[in-house]
Amino acid sequence: PFDVLIVGGGPAGAAAAVYAARKGIRTGIVAERFGGQTMDTMAIENFISVQETDGPKFAAALEAHVKAYDVDVMTLQRVQAVEPAAAPGALASVKLENGAELKARTVILATGARWRNMNVPGEHEYRTKGVAYCPHCDGPLFKGKDVAVIGGGNSGVEAAIDLAGVVRSVTLLEFADQLKADQVLVNKLRSLPNVTVHVNAQTTEVVGDGQKMTGLRYKDRVSGAEHQLDLAGVFVQIGLVPNTEFLRGTVELSRFGEIIIDAKCQTSAPGIYAAGDVTTVPFKQIVIAVGEGAKAALGAFDHLIRQPVV
Ligand code: FAD
Repeated sequence: PFDVLIVGGGPAGAAAAVYAARKGIRTGIVAERFGGQTMDTMAIENFISVQETDGPKFAAALEAHVKAYDVDVMTLQRVQAVEPAAAPGALASVKLENGAELKARTVILATGARWRNMNVPGEHEYRTKGVAYCPHCDGPLFKGKDVAVIGGGNSGVEAAIDLAGVVRSVTLLEFADQLKADQVLVNKLRSLPNVTVHVNAQTTEVVGDGQKMTGLRYKDRVSGAEHQLDLAGVFVQIGLVPNTEFLRGTVELSRFGEIIIDAKCQTSAPGIYAAGDVTTVPFKQIVIAVGEGAKAALGAFDHLIRQPVV
């Protein structure tokens, strides 16, 4: 069996693998796609000590760092279920979609998250060519330009406030008849001179010139009128969905489906740890995910050395 088996090969899983392997314990990593969300990223400019890189380059570096150690790397494999150890000292089981079953003393869940899409024409085509999801990551790319934010919940309103300080103007579009964000955030938003809010606004299309996006179309759900906005970018803020569908009933999840962890990244199940975007850790970023991955590996190691000698 593995001493530590990691599920997920993004920044959190890769960091956990390096930290576990450096303890000289048997370490494995199962991932559908090494690199995780970073594979979909153009420029990465906020990973401290690396001024600028791109997603595929960053993902290749993660993989090379893991492979420099004695780690059993299993890619293109999806995990279907995890069963925590039935009793202290017993083994956890990790079942793959291909039917294989792996046994481990500790498991680290690092399956990340995915941004919810609008599913309108042009969104996919202009992804990273104007269509963005992360204001902390991509906000500065739109300095002095006009952008929109889709979604009037806390993340949309926070994004609009954040972007208003960087870009020329922000138009926030909300589908419902009012903003759902906390009142303090809405008040702050309303106080900003370069922000316009449209409620009852249903985004219908991202338009572009074939190279990059140039605007958005939306429909006023009350009057039925169609509108077009000229924009350099749009930040889609309608939810970040943690990849925990396969963990229902295994570990405790928050109401958003995130794995609840303690300060050492332990979940509600002894021996099962979790790290990165899939957890309740606030602020989903690469630099945070790698820190959490390191913490989870050290937490798992701490758990292993406390197991009774058999
Ligand atoms: P992920 O990167 O999501 O990795 C999850 C891993 O789990 C993947 O290997 C996946 O294949 C695997 N997996 C999922 N389910 C299963 C399963 N059932 N079985 C097996 N494997 C599974 N952050 C920054 O700090 N700076 C940026 O500039 C930046 N730009 C971004 C741009 C875009 C377009 C996006 C989408 C995100 C960006 N982020 C950025 C956020 C950053 O990518 C994430 O915070 C980070 O990747 C989270 O790491 P993670 O390891 O927790 O999860």
